[in-house]
This record gives sequence, C-alpha cells and structure tokens, in this order.
Amino acid sequence: MSQTLFEKIINKEIPADILYEDDISIVIKDISPQAPTHLLIIPKKVIPKLSDATKEDQEILGHLMLVAVKISDDLGLDETFRLVVNNGAKAGQSVFHLHLHLLSGRNLNWPPG
Ligand code: AMP
Repeated sequence: MSQTLFEKIINKEIPADILYEDDISIVIKDISPQAPTHLLIIPKKVIPKLSDATKEDQEILGHLMLVAVKISDDLGLDETFRLVVNNGAKAGQSVFHLHLHLLSGRNLNWPPG
C-alpha cells in the first residue's frame, strides 16, 4: 500500500519543518498556515481518521493531546490555542493520516466555519 504524505514526512522522505518528535508522534509546521502558529501533531502509527481509532489507540490519542500542551508551553503560547481534528472529507479532511491541528496567535472565532 502506498504511504501517506505524513508517513513520507515521518520517514524523512520528503522535507518538513519538524518542531518535535518522539517514538509515538511528530509535530510539523503546516505548509499552509491558517494562523500565526499552525502545527500538525501526527501519530507515527497510521490511523486514517479519528473514527478509525480503536481502544488499542487510546494511549496514542492521549499522547497527542499532551504533546499539544507541551509544544504550547515550549513555544510560549500562553496556554491559548485551539485543537482541531477534521474527520472525513466532508469535515475538511484532506490527508487521511490522523492529525491534530494546533492553531494559535490570533483570535479564533466560534463557531468555526
Ligand atoms: P486536513 O485537511 O485536516 O486533512 O489537514 C491537512 C493539512 O496538511 C492541511 O492543513 C495542509 O495545509 C497540510 N499539509 C499538506 N501538505 C503538507 C506538507 N507537505 N507539509 C506540511 N503540511 C502539509
């Protein structure tokens, strides 16, 4: 099966601006930022979308959230950010390898579009 875009980034086959990496996850800058800070927190395990995750992925999912907090602290985001998961094409998902968007650095409206 062909690799996802994010697997290629994880495997360093295509370049990305990597801010953080551990055994479970990688954090990169989004190539098309929608806020002054727009990061993608990506599990190394390929889970196509959140609704494909199973009980065995619970630790990974929790890890991604805690990485978001760590990165926010490291970047001095003043504990002010939004996490977004687009689940499915109709919800705006374009890369089918689960990822959290971390957005910060501007006022974020609610409800989102
Ligand atoms: P989504 O639409 O929720 O699946 O999010 C996919 C995100 O990946 C979008 O915000 C894109 O801008 C971003 N993206 C696409 N290609 C790259 C890339 N090569 N490096 C970094 N981010 C990318």
